[in-house]
Amino acid sequence: MAISSSATRILATLGPATSSPEMIRELVEAGANAFRLNFSHGVKEDHAERYNTIRAVAEETGKPITVLADLQGPKLRIGTVDEDVVLEKGDRFIFDQTGEQGNRSRVTLPHPEIFDAILPGHRMMVNDGKLQFIVRTVDTGIIETEVLVGGKLTDRKGVNVPDVSLDISPLTEKDRADLDFALSLGVDWVALSFVQRVSDIIEARSIIKDRAAIMVKIEKPQALEILEDLIIATDGVMIARGDLGVELPPERIPGAQKDITRICRKVGKPVVVATQMLESMIDNPMPTRAEASDVATAVMDGVDCVMLSAETASGSFPVESVSIMHRILRETEEREGYFDSLQMIWQESHTTYHAVAESATSLARHINAAAVVAFSASGTTAVRLSRERPSLPIVMMTPKQAIRQRMNFLWGMNSILTDQFDSFDEALDGISRLMLENKMGQPGDQVIVVAGTPFGVSGTTNTIRVLNLHKPR
Ligand code: PEP
Repeated sequence: MAISSSATRILATLGPATSSPEMIRELVEAGANAFRLNFSHGVKEDHAERYNTIRAVAEETGKPITVLADLQGPKLRIGTVDEDVVLEKGDRFIFDQTGEQGNRSRVTLPHPEIFDAILPGHRMMVNDGKLQFIVRTVDTGIIETEVLVGGKLTDRKGVNVPDVSLDISPLTEKDRADLDFALSLGVDWVALSFVQRVSDIIEARSIIKDRAAIMVKIEKPQALEILEDLIIATDGVMIARGDLGVELPPERIPGAQKDITRICRKVGKPVVVATQMLESMIDNPMPTRAEASDVATAVMDGVDCVMLSAETASGSFPVESVSIMHRILRETEEREGYFDSLQMIWQESHTTYHAVAESATSLARHINAAAVVAFSASGTTAVRLSRERPSLPIVMMTPKQAIRQRMNFLWGMNSILTDQFDSFDEALDGISRLMLENKMGQPGDQVIVVAGTPFGVSGTTNTIRVLNLHKPR
């Protein structure tokens, strides 16, 4: 097994442009490590077919590809509207709950929670922020607004209310059905959209249990106010710049991205940067310079993974998008000083576990070890090693294929499936054999093994061992 070529990983969204086995194989060969099934689009049969194809390609290529099911969440939408409705700046416009077809003066908004929470002076946005309104008065079932930015109003467009925290569950009925379905397929991660509170994560976890890990999408300004609490409660984070960029002005997105990345790295949770990374490649074979620079900036900030959305789901150049993204990742990671720049001095959140991981990677550097190996049943020790962003290979050894899949989009992660070992000494012999069999070291090389003992207690990371690789005795 070759060490994968870029430490920063690629998550590609699948869609109509990328459903065939040939296409999914090409995306993997071009550098995709993980795939997103976007439940905002498509029907269950499409997702099931793509899921089965991913697992078949993973089997064929021997790569433990991660599959993420992204739930739509409580996306707010207006009702239907007459044809050719164009609103002008300064118009008065009403959102109501009549359920009737909308026109030039009003439209139905079938979400009573908004009527309960919104106040005069709050903003409302429609169609990804293209139309903007300011609330003037609120009465029972009626929100009267003034149009700030006009435009064409069409059926069922999305609505954003950036100034309001809504009392709604992050899981709609559709989400609950999709979640059941995604878990029955066997997805590795579930992404929750429009999370506003820690209790949203707790609610989802009570259903998901340990069948999949939870990725929180940060796309509400309210989430930014409780960022650290959310990051502590979740297993991973997606910086969903699409929806976040509707509710926040563009100048606040780069700072929010930096803050989220810094806290994720401090707490030790994987972080994905999403949306518009190579947007122009939906229609063009090459990205803009600014897009290349955006991807490279995420790499220099030390994120785990970068995501492609419409570029791979519905664009004309899906394989080229992955391939160019992979080139940008490699080129950026090969720059002098890359690893040094990723080292952070953690003055806070220095748990025993993180201190063990930090010491292990430092020891590995000092003795010029061939790799630092996490012997990890739950994957937690491997996450802690990845957090250190070491300049030498990280190898997770685990007896669980599901854990290999779950961790494959983490920064620098390589993994090998092991037998179930009963004792640490037995595991050390197994590690030595597997490192040699997988050509990740030579007899006589040293590796650092990090594990949690006693064996079988999930989450402990307390043991460091220097192991000389040797032929099986
Ligand atoms: C986003 O808003 O950036 C995002 C990733 O979510 P979605 O693609 O579901 O809109």
